[in-house]
Amino acid sequence: MSLPAKKSLGQNFLSDRRYLAPILDASELTPSDAVLEIGPGKGVLTEALAARVGCLAAVELDDRLIEPLRQRFADRPHVHIIHADILEHAPETLVAVCIRERRRLETRDWRSSDSTTEQFVQSQALSQSPNLPISNLQSPNLQSPNLQSPNLQSPNLQSPNLQSPNPPISQSPIPQSPNLQSPISYKVVANLPYYITSLALRHLLEAAQPPTLAVVMVQWEVAQRICAQPGDLSLLAVSVQFYAQPRIVQRVPAAAFSPRPKVDSAILQLRTRAQPAVDVAPEDFFTVVRAGFSQKRKQLHNCLSTALGLEKQAVQQWLTTAGIESTRRAETLTLEEWGRVCHMAPRGALPAPIGINKVTQQIAKSP
Ligand code: SAM
Repeated sequence: MSLPAKKSLGQNFLSDRRYLAPILDASELTPSDAVLEIGPGKGVLTEALAARVGCLAAVELDDRLIEPLRQRFADRPHVHIIHADILEHAPETLVAVCIRERRRLETRDWRSSDSTTEQFVQSQALSQSPNLPISNLQSPNLQSPNLQSPNLQSPNLQSPNLQSPNPPISQSPIPQSPNLQSPISYKVVANLPYYITSLALRHLLEAAQPPTLAVVMVQWEVAQRICAQPGDLSLLAVSVQFYAQPRIVQRVPAAAFSPRPKVDSAILQLRTRAQPAVDVAPEDFFTVVRAGFSQKRKQLHNCLSTALGLEKQAVQQWLTTAGIESTRRAETLTLEEWGRVCHMAPRGALPAPIGINKVTQQIAKSP
């Protein structure tokens, strides 16, 4: 594939294959794993993943890369190349398709000998908007209350096209929607396009069914910021650490990519927590944390009173009750301390549940 790289799609392809091993090691792959790869590009990581996992859904936005990728993996039915924007589809839905297909292959439940998932996906794509080739993959079961946290119901996480009340009738024997009533377990492995790093992390971590583990290549500075300790915390760090335990696996020099980016990268491992780090509703937690980080280098009581429209005295009293020095700065608080601040919030400090959009924008908005 000798196509010119699209800068607008963050195409810095991994050219130094020595960095594949640490990515794969950090992903702790087993042959039964279901993996979602974001942006397979020319397929260098995809190839390595395909050899190690039970099923692989690789989601690529660049239409020029789709056909070459499909041809390359045509002889491996456990690899599904999906033409889509990762941000427009629930990640678990994409993986569910390949899990279902793997089960079908295992049980040899093929009622049509020449029908593959790829053909199914393609045929559905043709019958719908060419820009939304996988819009039929959303299961109505995703709305099941036991699968979807009320705080994760952001309308902007779900493409309106996924909610179509009249999904097209498929000629394929394969059911149209993967059944997500039972939870699925999957991992994400990706060399993320830089321009959507924060959005993609938010999208994954706030998914109704987040991955159990994500190993992603991100800019070195971003990885450092995400893994920061109290004293250097940012809204981005607190947001990610609320949902996952981050760890920098390895620095990767800019020279390992083609075209060469301006900055180094890092392999970042995110181990998703079974429950958020703090026992506070995410909307309350992020209302307080965002208020705390609302003004750079200002003391906590000033930030909270300005952002939440509360009397300074009331905020000072609030922080004292929570056991937090009111002159501290937001970047010094541990997650546990943020939890205490939330628990001690005075009546009226969290006046109305903040809009879901605001909650889900926390990570994306972080500097
Ligand atoms: N995995 C390949 C590698 O390591 O060489 C390519 C990584 S490159 C940094 C990022 C890839 O993500 C590109 O192939 C790009 O086209 C794709 N991409 C960009 N935005 C995307 C999006 N919103 N959804 C899915 N793929 C996207």
